[in-house]
Amino acid sequence: MSRIRFNALQETLHRSPKNVIQKEKRSTLFGQNVFNKYAMQQYLTRAAYESVMNAIEHGTKIDRKIADQVAVSMKDWAMSKGATHYTHWFQPLTGATAEKHDAFFESINGSLAMEKFDGEQLVQQEPGASSFPNGGIRNTFEARGYTAWDPSSPAFIYETTLCIPTIFVSYTGEALDNKTPLLRALQAIDTHATAVCKYFDKNANKVIATLGWEQEFFLIDDALALSRPDLQLTGKTLLGHSPAKGQQLDDHYFGTIPARAMSFMQDLEQECMLLGIPVKTRHNEVAPNQFEVAPIFEEANLAVDHNSLLMDVMQKVSRRHQFKVLFDEKPFAGINGSGKHNNWSLSSDSGTNLLSPGKTPMKNLQFLTFFINTIKAVNTYEELLRASISSASNERRLGKNEAPPAIMSVFVGSQLSAVLDELENVTKGKLSPEEKTDLKLNIIGKIPEILLDNTDRNRTSPFAFTGNKFEFRAVGASANCAIPMTVLNTIVAKQLKEFKREVDFLIDEKGLKKDEAVFNILREYIKESKNIRFDGDGYGESWKKEAKKRGLSNNTTTPDALKVKVSKEVVALFEEMEVMNSIEVTARYEVDLATYAKKMQIEAGVIADIARNHVVPTAVIYQNTLLENTKNLKEIFGNDYKNIAKEQIELIMNISNHITQINALVVKMEAEKSKANSQVLFKSAETYSQKIQPFFDQIREHCDQLETMVDDNLWPLTKYRELLFIK
Ligand code: ADP
Ligand code: MG
Repeated sequence: MSRIRFNALQETLHRSPKNVIQKEKRSTLFGQNVFNKYAMQQYLTRAAYESVMNAIEHGTKIDRKIADQVAVSMKDWAMSKGATHYTHWFQPLTGATAEKHDAFFESINGSLAMEKFDGEQLVQQEPGASSFPNGGIRNTFEARGYTAWDPSSPAFIYETTLCIPTIFVSYTGEALDNKTPLLRALQAIDTHATAVCKYFDKNANKVIATLGWEQEFFLIDDALALSRPDLQLTGKTLLGHSPAKGQQLDDHYFGTIPARAMSFMQDLEQECMLLGIPVKTRHNEVAPNQFEVAPIFEEANLAVDHNSLLMDVMQKVSRRHQFKVLFDEKPFAGINGSGKHNNWSLSSDSGTNLLSPGKTPMKNLQFLTFFINTIKAVNTYEELLRASISSASNERRLGKNEAPPAIMSVFVGSQLSAVLDELENVTKGKLSPEEKTDLKLNIIGKIPEILLDNTDRNRTSPFAFTGNKFEFRAVGASANCAIPMTVLNTIVAKQLKEFKREVDFLIDEKGLKKDEAVFNILREYIKESKNIRFDGDGYGESWKKEAKKRGLSNNTTTPDALKVKVSKEVVALFEEMEVMNSIEVTARYEVDLATYAKKMQIEAGVIADIARNHVVPTAVIYQNTLLENTKNLKEIFGNDYKNIAKEQIELIMNISNHITQINALVVKMEAEKSKANSQVLFKSAETYSQKIQPFFDQIREHCDQLETMVDDNLWPLTKYRELLFIK
């Protein structure tokens, strides 16, 4: 074993689980570092409290005087918890979170020192962050960007800093972040879902989207990760031969959590409790070293913030446990990658889950309305939904044998399929009294019963109905949930708006009763969105053929998938729903393309470096040993050496062959890279996708072959079998 690897492995031998002793009950810790309702009630005046609650619930503005009061109270609360700094915490288009800390501390005339924080500092800041990707929204002469307080997501303290969730917008008002469009999409779904809700419940005044994410990730020992430039620079391995034992035995999934991972999780959960992230579930995933955490679901904006925060906290906690946490969607070839299921539903202000069947036929009609409209929305905008989860890293995972394909489809299960089939046959126009009774008693009246034992879950579907919510499974583990959530809520909002228009038309112009009108439109929707429904094996080859026949898109590469984001229909959709204007839409498309090209560029650079500077020189050293050995054999055995050194000679030739191929491939790849770097954005991304990416696998193949040939003592890179089995 090489010295680098040996030292790294030696280091890991001395690791033992860090004991994280929790003296306090989880429920006592929960939200202690959050300026939540409870803290606000204690620290704010009644007027200030009501003003903030109004802003949260109804989006009303908070005036400057109240903002000053809130700021002072927030500072007092934060300082009582040991905070020294504050920051506006936002989500630029890098997909990650950003923060710039300022101290509360101020000195007046260089002598009198005090802690200050006022309404202006709370409400708006100019972080001067002109280097975030903005897709051309901010010209250099007007590069100002502002962060503005989002009261709907509570401030929190992390590592002695008061973090204030904010949106990030340009001087000219365009959104420069992922949160602003999400908030607007949530506003759209509230407006249009509430309007539809009123058909069934006159008292409904608000609908919120709920999100419960499930975060998958890998844990790797940090000393081992340090020995691999690919893990350091790209967060994934770019080469490495599969270990003899991987996940074949399925012995990791739901198994006992390894002790070191367990203590990491306990520490993480404790941090989450303090931050008010309601994590509930933890378990081993399918691949070795792969795990999952999931919280109780929350209002979507808060859930998105909590997921971004969790990913930050995970990085920090992992360091304390000598781990590197990997969110990449496909960090190891040959074993499962990581996703982030987005469980999504809608909930009215009476607390009703709109995607949950109820006890009465009327409640079930409400359920069917939201259920069928969601399916219809996915059917209409399947390509946009696919685009919302596209990235360089997720591209490697989708369509592999452990993840949904790049084709969007909806799984509803056999029982609900049967209900939809029956509804489809309901007479058009007015219903006879017999039909009405039949519908109420035999079709929709039966829904809750059948759902109770609806256990046929399909794990291969990218968008599955799971009893009382939809589960969007194609989202990648490293994604910011705001992006798919913005799209999903926007398309459903638009669909509900259409639905309302059509139902109202039948009521007002055709004299149909409300229920009849609803049935009529739903029946048409069931027919129109049949193509998107698929309950079979989403991983199979036959589905690809079938989906093509149905006219569903199958955009396997990121540049292809992204195109639809700037199509006329999509721009019109976002404009109509007031989620983004065309400048904002185009900016995001350009940022996505540029990010894709840059990620590919980095990977190409790293793979070329490892192949040339690590693998080839190691192979040459070993080849020299073999040559020396063969020469010596010749000296002793004369011409007989050819028989005696047969294997060595073969190995020498093989190694030569691989080295030659690697060099040739790297040279060709670099030539394509130079071309790509001088092309315009879309072309460049396309060249990376079509011309350059194929070299990654080819170069890797030769390197991995060499790994199996070269003396283990010489191999410099920590091998898969050493990386993947933490204790
Ligand atoms: P699994 O999908 O692993 O079988 P569950 O069905 O229990 O597990 O739930 C998975 C996730 O779904 C959890 O994160 C949970 O918070 C979320 N979830 C449950 N109900 C809702 C809902 N109404 N809206 C959004 N997410 C939900
Ligand atoms: Mg799930």
